[in-house]
Amino acid sequence: MSKTVPETIEQIQEEALNAVASARTPDDLQALSTRYLGRKGAVTRFLRNISSLPPDQRPTAGKEANKVKKALEAVFSETADRLAQNSAKDKTAIDVSLPGRSAVRGTLHPVTLIMRQICDIFSRLGFSVAEGPEIETDYYNFEALNFPRNHPARDMQDTFFVSEDIVLRTHTSPLQVRVMEKQSPPVRVVAPGKVFRCDSDLTHTPMFHQVEGLMVDENISFGDLKGILTVFVHQMFDDQTSIRFRPSFFPFTEPSAEVDIQCVMCRGRGCRVCSDTGWLEVLGSGMVHPAVLENVGYDTHRYTGFAFGMGVERIAMMKYGIDDLRKFFENDIRFLTQFE
Ligand SMILES: [Zn+2]
Repeated sequence: MSKTVPETIEQIQEEALNAVASARTPDDLQALSTRYLGRKGAVTRFLRNISSLPPDQRPTAGKEANKVKKALEAVFSETADRLAQNSAKDKTAIDVSLPGRSAVRGTLHPVTLIMRQICDIFSRLGFSVAEGPEIETDYYNFEALNFPRNHPARDMQDTFFVSEDIVLRTHTSPLQVRVMEKQSPPVRVVAPGKVFRCDSDLTHTPMFHQVEGLMVDENISFGDLKGILTVFVHQMFDDQTSIRFRPSFFPFTEPSAEVDIQCVMCRGRGCRVCSDTGWLEVLGSGMVHPAVLENVGYDTHRYTGFAFGMGVERIAMMKYGIDDLRKFFENDIRFLTQFE
């Protein structure tokens, strides 16, 4: 007999336990089970050989061998369970050799991009940025801006009323009053934010974005307004873009002017976007009405100022050549990811 064949049942047990401990898969274990407990396995052979022992040794050897057989059967069954569990875990485990998935980065909304760009340009011109509530009192949204109660000018803006005296702000102009109440001149501020009007069609959405601007100091004239807005238009579009002022009316500015820029699509030659006029309206502006300055307690003999307001979506449409306002609010990822 070769020396690798164990002679006693204890040796068989020890060897079997060591082998089971190093089994890694259910297949390994199955092979070991056959080797020790199978029909021709070591334990079975040992049991079969008991009859060849001297009669007085047979009972003890049989008893021992059966005990070892039972113990090994228990160990094999326990180990089989454990290996089965491990192999189930392996199937869901992370394969560290797989190439990584690249993280998908979101992009800023075009409205956010343009709003930031507008604020950046004015910041460089010495303006600070202010924000205010979207739910406003009638006083800040209308009255302090020289829209008296029952004044027909209130019809210019289709207002969402929360209650008789509370509205969703129809413009960012309330910020003019809020800023001037807290601060004495000089004032140079831009106020970006959401505004609301009950109006919805191809070119209007019930919510849109504006940036308001206000500059008040001694000796501020319409020339300053024109200068600042010209710099803004040149930085926002390019310095070849011409600008023109058209007389207009707003209750809180006097005189008031709409500002047009040369059509960015056709460079002024006339196209569908500008209805063949060569010009596009970009913002409203004017010299702050003395009544507004008086409402916040400013000395109107000493201080003058100008204000302007622009629609952010409108600027974004011109800048990016977008022809449908609704695209901004449909959350179509194919549209939104174009603005890196
Ligand atoms: Zn045009």
